[in-house]
Amino acid sequence: LTARLAELKDLPAETSDGLRIQLSANIEFPQEAHACLERGADGIGLYRTEFLYLSSADEPSEEDHYEAYSQVVREMDGRPVVIRTLDLGADKMGHRPLVEQEHNPFLGLRSIRLSLRNLDLFRPQLRAILRAAVHGDIRVMFPLITTIVELRQARMLLNVVAEDLSESGIPYRSDIPVGMMVEVPAAVVMLDHFVREVDFFSIGTNDLAQYTLAVDRSNEYVADLYQSCDPAVLRLIARSIEVADANDTPIAVCGEMSSNPARALLLIGLGVRNLSVPPSTLHRVKKAIRSVTMEQCQQIAERVMKFQTARDVDLYLLDRLGDLV
Ligand code: PEP
Ligand code: MG
Repeated sequence: LTARLAELKDLPAETSDGLRIQLSANIEFPQEAHACLERGADGIGLYRTEFLYLSSADEPSEEDHYEAYSQVVREMDGRPVVIRTLDLGADKMGHRPLVEQEHNPFLGLRSIRLSLRNLDLFRPQLRAILRAAVHGDIRVMFPLITTIVELRQARMLLNVVAEDLSESGIPYRSDIPVGMMVEVPAAVVMLDHFVREVDFFSIGTNDLAQYTLAVDRSNEYVADLYQSCDPAVLRLIARSIEVADANDTPIAVCGEMSSNPARALLLIGLGVRNLSVPPSTLHRVKKAIRSVTMEQCQQIAERVMKFQTARDVDLYLLDRLGDLV
């Protein structure tokens, strides 16, 4: 088995008729980058930086951020590394809550909202990202963007810290690609406007499903209602891909959905060319991609988009792709 997997590592994530898919990895800690390379990842599609906060007792300094990002980008040796800015709050609060108990934390002060209101938290991170970018292909991505105002505020702050670095004579790179997560339905609705102000998108299917279906992703009582293959979620994904394609803007999927091989093929059929998955699932997803043609993926997508329930979608994928589900 290990020999077969090692072989797979050096083969491209490509359909049998030659469509190349960028298959990247999601990480939470810098030490994980090495395993991603060993498993043949094309890059880091999602670096969840909030774990820098959740794993240490003290607030990380700018140097802590810088060290972590530099380590990852050096390890990845020229491959793209998408650093997502702090996604703290709600399910990722840790032991140092920045806000009092909220009634609806997933609808509360989390993620980019929290960062924009705590510049002492946000600024050192942005500085560190721009500084580490001199060592490789770093891209910055903002989470939970809901309104265009949030995106503009975040971008403005990025410009301000770049000017500060410049005035202090600290080496940095300012022309890095800037992207946003697509994980709030409002952003999908307004995507034709967002597309003019970002360099790339990445769909967060975990939160997109939660906010579209009004189901708390961490609430066990409604776990059966939390379905990333719900047709409403699939329509939002399809629409996002349409808008991105029409504007030649790259769009990836980095939510859990892309790590299920059958669902990954569905996403490819919908037009996704860039997937990011947990390192442990890289092989499985790559193997699935290499086992189908582009046309098969498109047929699957075409059929799936006609279904009315998540159950029908899942049953069809099971029937059609069997062991890949
Ligand atoms: C998502 O919401 O799909 C996502 C990738 O981000 P997280 O799971 O960290 O919220
Ligand atoms: Mg999310």
